[in-house]
Amino acid sequence: TPVIGVLALQGDVREHLVALAAADAVARPVRRPEELAEVDGLVIPGGESTTISKLARLFGVMEPLRARVRDGMPVYGTCAGMIMLADKILDPRSGQETVGGIDMIVRRNAFGRQNESFEAAVDVKGIEGDPVEGVFIRAPWVESVGAGAEVLAEHGGHIVAVRQNNALATSFHPELTGDHRVHRLFVDMVRTWTTARSL
Ligand code: GLN
Repeated sequence: TPVIGVLALQGDVREHLVALAAADAVARPVRRPEELAEVDGLVIPGGESTTISKLARLFGVMEPLRARVRDGMPVYGTCAGMIMLADKILDPRSGQETVGGIDMIVRRNAFGRQNESFEAAVDVKGIEGDPVEGVFIRAPWVESVGAGAEVLAEHGGHIVAVRQNNALATSFHPELTGDHRVHRLFVDMVRTWTTARSL
């Protein structure tokens, strides 16, 4: 059974832990480099990307996380987590850093302010059956992707889900819906990676 961490510095950590457990992974919070070293994959939750960025520095996990992502460890970022996986932010707050891993440019708060949060049905490549119920909360969108990144979903003409190798990102929050298909997709990515590594 894959062991998957949730970066637990700020944001909706608990919801991801529950969703991962429901998708048949062993899920645990990760704050420190020693904890990061023990997981097979990592989720970066929704929340506030500037805060997550600053705390990642403070807890000393920014560089170890970059190293693991470079090494191919699967990562999944939702909303603020998507921003953390972008190689470039269009409108970063001062001092805001990202982990990177996906060749994309994201625009923070692109869909509007908190009171413009909304839900929409989203067709996600690789997810069978009904569209995914996308919960968008001050959500970013992806302004553009580079050649290595695959667009998995769009909403209203904007890119809202992307994958590049073992890095997955969505503008929306599947952890809030009780539909665990996106988490299952990620758990499968982790399983494939751990299996390949142990051969
Ligand atoms: N707007 C937030 C940010 O810039 C993201 C919001 C969210 O994660 N729900 O980090």
